[in-house]
Amino acid sequence: MCKTRLDDLDLSNPVVVHPIKTFPLIKDLVTDVSWNFEVNKKIKGFTPAKDSDFVYHQEDADRVQEFRKCIECFLCQTVCQVLRNHDGHDKFYGPRFFVRLAGLEMHPLDTANRLQEIDREAGVFLCNINKCCTTVCPEDIHVTDNAIIPLKERVIDQMLDPILKIFRAIVGK
Ligand code: SF4
Ligand code: SF4
Repeated sequence: MCKTRLDDLDLSNPVVVHPIKTFPLIKDLVTDVSWNFEVNKKIKGFTPAKDSDFVYHQEDADRVQEFRKCIECFLCQTVCQVLRNHDGHDKFYGPRFFVRLAGLEMHPLDTANRLQEIDREAGVFLCNINKCCTTVCPEDIHVTDNAIIPLKERVIDQMLDPILKIFRAIVGK
């Protein structure tokens, strides 16, 4: 998973490679990342409206294409301070799953509402936007700018903004 090239290093000293720290060690450099697959199962999958025409415009494809590039290497999960330093596995899904959630939430034909889950179980506001996940992503996914920040904005707009709450109460939506 390490992206550092050996020719960038001072090879006068031995190069030491450690297993990733965020998940339990099985052996040598192999760690048990099965926690991630359990998180993945919790996320409500793609839910298109019944009987709707499946029209998909190029701009819709462009909008979510970036999120489809994820190869589930879990490098972002590994460097995330919420998971690695604060042991937040029971209150935070981690950047990989914000990428998946963003791809679903921004899909034009998806009708599921995941905002409460994003706020609570997924713990999106524990992220402090330090962009470590974006820095390490081998697929160059802009995890914070394009997934996490828009998800936070949606939760604030739809669930937490008091003026919008009053407006919705007045118009009944
Ligand atoms: S930006 Fe947020 S999700 Fe990404 S590594 Fe930092 S705390 Fe974790
Ligand atoms: S680092 Fe990038 S490719 Fe790897 S799991 Fe995270 S988002 Fe996906």
